[in-house]
Amino acid sequence: MSLPRSDRPVGQPAEYPNRLRLGTLAPMRWLAGFTSLCWLALAAAPARAAWLDRTEAIMGTRVYVQLWAEDPDKGNAAIAAVMEEMRRIDALMSHYKPDSQLSRINQRAALEPVQVDPELFDLIKLSTHFSEITLGAFDITYASVGYLYNYPLHVHPTEQQIQAALPAVNWRNLQFDAVHHTIRFGHPGMRIDLGGIAKGYAVDRGVAILKARGIQHALVTAGGDSRLLGDHLGRPWLVSIAHPDEPHNPDKVVTRIPLSDSAVSTSGDYERYFDEDGVRYHHIIDPHTGHSANKVRSATIIGPTATQTDGLSKTAFVLGPEKTLEIINRMPDFDAVFVTPSGRMLYSNGLRPPKPRPAGAPPAPGTSSPASSTH
Ligand code: ADP
Ligand code: MG
Repeated sequence: MSLPRSDRPVGQPAEYPNRLRLGTLAPMRWLAGFTSLCWLALAAAPARAAWLDRTEAIMGTRVYVQLWAEDPDKGNAAIAAVMEEMRRIDALMSHYKPDSQLSRINQRAALEPVQVDPELFDLIKLSTHFSEITLGAFDITYASVGYLYNYPLHVHPTEQQIQAALPAVNWRNLQFDAVHHTIRFGHPGMRIDLGGIAKGYAVDRGVAILKARGIQHALVTAGGDSRLLGDHLGRPWLVSIAHPDEPHNPDKVVTRIPLSDSAVSTSGDYERYFDEDGVRYHHIIDPHTGHSANKVRSATIIGPTATQTDGLSKTAFVLGPEKTLEIINRMPDFDAVFVTPSGRMLYSNGLRPPKPRPAGAPPAPGTSSPASSTH
């Protein structure tokens, strides 16, 4: 799903009538009856509340922040603080930057334990939790093979190269020392890459910064990972899932889901890829085979935080939609939408339309959830 994908407008209010009150009408009428003295006072008041937004290129992707600011100066300062935080995380965790702490791990951890900031240590440790619950589908050591691909240059490894590198792919060979915050590789040739979770983490950090500054309605997006803070002034945000065949066509979306106070991550085989001899080589790698994982074309996970939804959004590509739905349906607070290679859509239990009820039966409680009303 691409919802708030970075390259398309994301945060649009739901297109259906607002079931909550329209908060602007009463104050307008109230103002209309005021004297000119009051208008003077208003003129001296701070600039008017407004939606603000900004896009920047950070972490190799587009970062987008949209928020409702009672005071535009404070709103712009809050957006700048989020962007600054994303740059800080990128400098710490990028595998493209040779002097990042993550690159230091890749350079040294096969030789000796490498000490890192507790923040990076914790995220790497958390990554192994997602490896565990996804039965190894999410594995940051995928990079031991993943570095052999170069999508913009249309480069992919030979089968021989893959087989030579594959033994180094195994998250269980990451050795942690929680006292000294060191990480060591237990196998030669290992590499790690946080590209599958760091954007979600950065989005959560961005939302924490906005909350601390008193912002109550906002959208923060980095790549395929988004989080919605509050609602869109009384209406839910409307999140569109892009169609894998036409991901940039806003008129051809898979579905639209109204959401508030949630995170949502979409992974797609159309994000970074090239096609060769009828095979799509794309950026989500099956850690068991070293090949691009193709059991779905698009996977969207909805949940409480973007770190979690990012850590889960690669699973269906590797395990397949049915097995992944079994996992997601066992996790309270999480939902999923998958698009299979044949174009079929699969939903988790929380997003399924209610089953038709026998004639005369009383209405089932809770059948009018906004998510299930979208399809
Ligand atoms: P985005 O970065 O746009 O949010 P995704 O969330 O789909 O996209 O993450 C894709 C990235 O995840 C890849 O570019 C790569 O860095 C990383 N990755 C690929 N395969 C795996 C895997 N099996 N486990 C963990 N991370 C992976
Ligand atoms: Mg992501």
